[in-house]
Amino acid sequence: MRRKKAIVDRSILRRPVPGAIAALAFLAVAGLVRPPESAAQSDGPVPIVFDARIVGDANRTRFVADMTDAADAAVFTLADPYRIVVDMSEVGFRLPDDAGQKGRGLFSAFRYGLISRGKSRIVLDVDGPVKVDKSFVVPPADNQPARLVIDVVPTSRKAFLAANRAYRDSLAVKGAAKRDRALVATGQGGPGPTVVIDPGHGGIDTGAKGRNGSVEKNLTLAFAKILGKKLKETGRYNVLFTRTDDSFVALGDRVAFARENNADLFVSVHANSFRGRSVRGAIIYTVSDDASDKMAAEIAQSENQADVLSGIDIPDEDSDEVMDILLDLTQRETRNFGTVFAKNLVKELKLTTPMFKVPHQQAGFKVLEAPDVPSAMIELGFVSNADDEKLLLSDSWRDKTAGSVVQAIDDFFERKLAQRGGQ
Ligand SMILES: [Zn+2]
Repeated sequence: MRRKKAIVDRSILRRPVPGAIAALAFLAVAGLVRPPESAAQSDGPVPIVFDARIVGDANRTRFVADMTDAADAAVFTLADPYRIVVDMSEVGFRLPDDAGQKGRGLFSAFRYGLISRGKSRIVLDVDGPVKVDKSFVVPPADNQPARLVIDVVPTSRKAFLAANRAYRDSLAVKGAAKRDRALVATGQGGPGPTVVIDPGHGGIDTGAKGRNGSVEKNLTLAFAKILGKKLKETGRYNVLFTRTDDSFVALGDRVAFARENNADLFVSVHANSFRGRSVRGAIIYTVSDDASDKMAAEIAQSENQADVLSGIDIPDEDSDEVMDILLDLTQRETRNFGTVFAKNLVKELKLTTPMFKVPHQQAGFKVLEAPDVPSAMIELGFVSNADDEKLLLSDSWRDKTAGSVVQAIDDFFERKLAQRGGQ
């Protein structure tokens, strides 16, 4: 006998259905379910998702994930772009590198990974408004793996948004954004200026994928750790990280973290990707309302998609709030400092790594938007270029390039102090 756990909205339900085996479970309806069984997922190893596939057509499409054991799951939808989000108790993913890149029927792609400690997520992209017609988890039985099943059928935008609103209104979700924060403060108590190092991406948000399979989120973390270690070794800085492991951190939370910790400098570490495979070299970005050029705008847009792709609901609030004149002045000064730092970075980095022909560019990067923390993003190189990718994976390159960044940070604060002292 196989029991089925129906998943309704975001509430986690574990409801057994009698008599349903995997193939037939599809036919069971929510009305057949019984009261919850005793919960208790053991504290042992987490279930592993080892296969995921999409079947069906544009009239009804099914997502199936095979797992070594059942996980709790909750499903909800997000609009603009249309997404189905499946939040689960923590699972491991052992899927092929290209899993989720090809769509079928109503699904165009999917992503997966950790969204916060103890919580995993799958985000399914859909081309138009859909209704989650069925969703359930079947525990393993009779040599069949546990299985997560999500069925969607087309619906109207109106119906989709109504379902969405119901979700937004729920208390559980209002608290989620805060609970999901996985910010880590380490290396506390250093003297001197506070430098926040921000390794790009993490968890479900993998970032760019390299020519030979490297993943941006891992490259940025590896580099950030070496950079942080070198900075601490100088004894001159209080060094904080927005993440120190493979967790997802929303862009706004990274900015908020820097502000809450009164950061004196925010350094975001990324790796680029672009269509042309010959394009290579490091680029330093600072924030501006006007992008340097189309490529910069495109790269900023792609970096800014991180939250959307990870299934974060971004409320459509008015972004053009009236800006206080003092804040405006602060922001202008902050951006000037960001530009000074970017120039230092270019000067130092060109000694240790190939630079893009226009090495300092500007665009509307959300993660650089703190009005009172000078911020810059280092795109270390293009993982879409095989030579750059090789560098980014090299320990000796990391070591000397991180050394250049430390030098640029030293110059930045020396100059700032000199300016103050000279007045
Ligand atoms: Zn990135």
